[in-house]
Amino acid sequence: MRKYNPVTDVTVNALKAVLGEKNVTTDPDKMHPYSHDEVADTRYQRLPEVVVLPENTAQVAAVLKIANEQMIPVVPRGGGTGLACGAVPMYGGIVVSLEKMNKILEINAESLYMIVQAGVRTDEVQKQAAKAGLFYAGDPCSSDSCFIGGNVATNAGGNRAIKYGVTRNQIYSIEVVTPKGDITTLGGRLKKNSTGYCLEQLFIGSEGTLGIITTITLKLTPLPKAVMDFLVVFPTPELAIDMVGHMNRAGIQATCIEFMENAAVKSVEKYLKEKLPQGESGNYLIIQVEANNEEQLDEIAAQVDELCSEKGATAVLVPDAEKIWKVRKSIAEAVRHEDMIYSSEDIVVPIDRLSATLEEMNRICVKHGAASRTVAHAGDGNIHLMILKAGNTLEEWPEKLAAIQQEIFDYVYDIGGKLSGEHGIGYKKKTLMAKYTDPVELEIMRAIKKALDPNNILNPGKIFDLD
Ligand SMILES: Cc1cc2nc3c(=O)[nH]c(=O)nc-3n(C[C@H](O)[C@H](O)[C@H](O)COP(=O)(O)OP(=O)(O)OC[C@H]3O[C@@H](n4cnc5c(N)ncnc54)[C@H](O)[C@@H]3O)c2cc1C
Repeated sequence: MRKYNPVTDVTVNALKAVLGEKNVTTDPDKMHPYSHDEVADTRYQRLPEVVVLPENTAQVAAVLKIANEQMIPVVPRGGGTGLACGAVPMYGGIVVSLEKMNKILEINAESLYMIVQAGVRTDEVQKQAAKAGLFYAGDPCSSDSCFIGGNVATNAGGNRAIKYGVTRNQIYSIEVVTPKGDITTLGGRLKKNSTGYCLEQLFIGSEGTLGIITTITLKLTPLPKAVMDFLVVFPTPELAIDMVGHMNRAGIQATCIEFMENAAVKSVEKYLKEKLPQGESGNYLIIQVEANNEEQLDEIAAQVDELCSEKGATAVLVPDAEKIWKVRKSIAEAVRHEDMIYSSEDIVVPIDRLSATLEEMNRICVKHGAASRTVAHAGDGNIHLMILKAGNTLEEWPEKLAAIQQEIFDYVYDIGGKLSGEHGIGYKKKTLMAKYTDPVELEIMRAIKKALDPNNILNPGKIFDLD
């Protein structure tokens, strides 16, 4: 890792001259919230040297120019809900929080798009689109606290990816500030484009290592006319998971297929202090379907009911939608309530390997005396495995966890899976990234980073190391 200069009075004064006194802080109490994301492990916390709150793109650009001149690392930050320590300033320096760039600049119902600044909360994007009778399809479970810019930077997935795709599929164009402090707009409000490299897609999902995203033009659609959510209960995780393939083969297009294995259901029951349907042994699928009218919805609902019952469901319920989604979205808090020491994995595998992967993951965790809680965006093969220390001591846990991860990822990569389906690599998973990624692929990524950020000042040490 290259040597950076510390932030000095000279740096702080230069930042204040550009951003104004009120948008620059070095007060440790005020900076503390910026020292971590949603990863609870304190080994991954680090206080920034200065936090800046730009109000426009020109200010972001000026910060990057100062950082290059003075060789100081810069870390972009959205809502801080990341699960890979991507927004944590592991090498100190300047944190650029986009929280004040939180305006919706345009909602165009005629041409179905929305222009937003990067610091708008994702559920605000959804709500304001809905107010205009429109639909923003991106829907990470953290939508009430993450920012749209963070979603773009991580290429967030979420609940509706099977039907609508992930964040990269919702975007027409982005305005970015490059690591050197230049401003450019990539992409366009176009249905197709073969004009050179598709650079907007390179920046989407680059976890704040290639540029700071400041403004985004999002695609919208008309609001779905009729929606129904099912809670389907199965006696085994495998029967539940196998429904994804059954539904695909039957041609039933779900909007969401979310899985919660029984240990996760029980964890949420305890956390919410609420009895859930067949909570003692049931494995859940939350299935959402949409249609153009009520008649069509009834037809799809009958198909789902029949297929799930035929494939072993013990209950096909139409619950209060808000309530059942609260159950699904409470899992992270519920597990944290059980034990602060756990590792959250974000494995993605081919759909036809989901069931076998679950079985293998459970076997490996049990073998090492760890506990597991598993939920999945099952429709897109994305498993969130939370590995709890359980009977292991604090001293032996890091080594045990490394052994568990190695066995699991050896298996996952053998069957064509990957480390992360949606949370990204950040700082936390870069060792695993180095271990499991093809060296040629890694070298291409490094070459791109070096070309765009010759001083390696933008979010250094994230995704991979340069040397
Ligand atoms: C309870 C819970 C549920 C979650 N559910 C989901 C889910 O369903 N799907 C999913 O994909 N993720 C989920 N996440 C993870 C997280 O919410 C997403 O990764 C989200 O996209 C992060 O957005 P953020 O604004 O909080 O970004 P941050 O955590 O602030 O930053 C994340 C990364 O993006 C970079 N970044 C942020 N803003 C910018 C910007 N404007 N320009 C350049 N880089 C930037 C940061 O440097 C960092 O590398 C969940 C997290 C929690 C805690």
